[in-house]
This record gives sequence, structure tokens and C-alpha cells, in this order.
Amino acid sequence: SDTPNGKLMMMHEEAAKLYHHVLLNTPAGAQALKYLKGRGMTDELINDFNLGFAPEQRILKPFLTQKVNDYQLLRKSGLFVENNEGELHDRFVGRVMYPLRNQYGRVIGFSGRVIGKVPEDTPKYLNSPETPIFNKRRTLFNFDVARKEARQASKIYLFEGFMDVISAYAAGVKNGVASMGTSLTEEQVAVLGRAVNQVDICYDGDSAGQNAIDRAISLFRDHQPQGMQLRVVQLPAGVDPDEYVQQNGATKFSKYLVDQEETVVDFYLRFYRINKNLNNQNELISYLDQSLKLLATLPSSLEQDMYLTKLAKEFDLDKATLKSQLVEISHRLG
Ligand code: ATP
Ligand code: MN
Ligand code: MN
Ligand code: MN
Repeated sequence: SDTPNGKLMMMHEEAAKLYHHVLLNTPAGAQALKYLKGRGMTDELINDFNLGFAPEQRILKPFLTQKVNDYQLLRKSGLFVENNEGELHDRFVGRVMYPLRNQYGRVIGFSGRVIGKVPEDTPKYLNSPETPIFNKRRTLFNFDVARKEARQASKIYLFEGFMDVISAYAAGVKNGVASMGTSLTEEQVAVLGRAVNQVDICYDGDSAGQNAIDRAISLFRDHQPQGMQLRVVQLPAGVDPDEYVQQNGATKFSKYLVDQEETVVDFYLRFYRINKNLNNQNELISYLDQSLKLLATLPSSLEQDMYLTKLAKEFDLDKATLKSQLVEISHRLG
């Protein structure tokens, strides 16, 4: 830890300690603490995730400069912004702080959230910039904990946001991770692929979430290792996993994750319906065509058969006809 990267991590850990202390023990943290409690965060959760608060008053620089006198290191840490005069100022002010850890549990960056309602022109979450220790494309929130949990659970849940991961954890689902604000990257897919052989995508129950599931599936399809299983858990319309836990409690949430787990094919059989009126014959034909094209890509004829049975039942169609159509499409696709 005498290496430059070791020092950068030490600085982040000192900063996390300071922000945590401010949140729990000072008047400056009271409003943030009230906000977190209002969102169902217990003392235990606040401790487990080492949540903190960066106050309006810029306190990090004087605190860290007592411990680190290397200006270049302070500059490189990403904890400060540099003004035109070359002076460093605390990057995070007035934000609830979520420490970001690498796979070994070392703190490598932060994400800071505005308290409460988000003003226009202000980003809800502000992340650390890329630094020698923080690679956004590779980092997954809570991955160090999730991969240990996954030794028993044998899978990892992929959520959209930090609060989703934390509320799932509070509900006993500790094998959850979230990508870093941006959409999932191929680096994150590789990280997951090395750690587990099943990932369940559990994004928000809005149309942005559904489209993000579609994109994530494509990314996994192109970059996941052989034999990795991918599943989807679609949330009810309009709620994210955090809201689901707050509204329905831990037991219902963990049951929901089990009961509503579906295959990628089942996800698409629903996804293709969005904005289609299946009572209209032309739209139904185009839906079936799209669905059969997907089934044609399945390597297992047993699986194909199961989905054909479902479609035939649902739309009261002759399964043999659907099947011959599938065979035709398979030939056309070569
Ligand atoms: P909250 O429950 O705190 O309002 P959320 O997780 O539900 O947050 P979403 O709007 O669903 O927020 O976004 C999902 C995730 O995307 C966030 O957790 C965060 O990681 C990231 N994100 C959202 N807005 C921004 C932003 N303006 N800048 C960077 N990352 C963001
Ligand atoms: Mn969302
Ligand atoms: Mn959300
Ligand atoms: Mn949310």
C-alpha cells in the first residue's frame, strides 16, 4: 500500500470515513441522515455500505492534506476539481456519498446523490472521474460482496441503481450488483462471466428499463462465456426494485425474484408485443413471424417445441402449422 495506487485507495478510505462520520455524528449530516432513514435505510445498512455525506462546507481537502502532502496524488485522486489557478477544491458537496469498492473491497471512487428531489440541470448522481484506480467500465457496485454470496446463491442479480442493490441486500438478497450509471459495458459482462454462471437481469419496470434489458441481453449474447445462463426478472410497471421492497417488504420481494424469473426467450415473447395490437391479424402475423425468427435461433429443438406449444395455446393456433413455419424460417436463415 506504499504504491501510488495503494495510497490513492487509502485516501478514498479516509474520505469515506470522514463522510460517514459527518453523516452519523454531525449537525451537517442531519438532513442527509433523515433523507436516508426516510428511504428505509437502517443504521446497519448505512454501516454495511459505509454511506456518508459530503457537506456544503468543503472539508475533505484540509482533512486529506494533513495526511498526504503529495499534490500530484491529491490531483490524480479525482476527489477534487482543479480551478484555473491550479487550486484543488472538493468535488463532492451537498451529496449523500456511496463509496464504490473494487473486487477486493478497497474503496476506489464515489457516487454522490442529491438529497431528495433533483433540481433541473443537476445530475442526480455524480460519479468520480476515471482515475488510475477507478475504471468505470469495469466496476460494478457491490461486486465484492455479491461474488462471495454467489458461491452459495450461484447467481448474481444485475440491478440498475445503487438503492436497488442496497434494498435488495436489506431484503436478504445480497448477491446484487449495479453498473455504474451508464448502461452495461462488455467489460462488466466479462467480470460477471468470470465470477458466476448465471446472471438475472432485474431492471426498473419502466420502458427505459425494458429497453435496457434488451440491450443488456445483446451485450451478453456477444460477450458472455460459453455456458453462461441469462435470466430476466421483469418488475411490475412503474416500480424499481428499491420501490418494490419499500412497498411490499422483504418476503414478497425475494419470492417475486424466484416466481417471476423467466428465460430470455420468454422476455422477448413479451417484449415484441409492446405497442402491438395482437387482435389485429396483420400485427399478430408480424408478431408471430418475429417470435418464430427468435425460436429458429435456439439450439435445442425441445426448447423450440415448448415455446411453440405456448404460442399455439395462447393464440389458439394449430401447432403443426406453426412448426412448419418455423422449419421454413430456419431454412431461410440457413
Ligand atoms: P434513486 O432511487 O436514488 O432516485 P435510481 O437508482 O432509481 O435512483 P434511476 O433514475 O433509475 O435512479 O437510474 C439508475 C442508475 O443510473 C442510478 O442508480 C445511477 O447509478 C445512474 N444514474 C441515474 N442518473 C444519473 C446521472 N444523472 N448521472 C450519473 N448516473 C446516473
Ligand atoms: Mn431507471
Ligand atoms: Mn430506478
Ligand atoms: Mn429508485
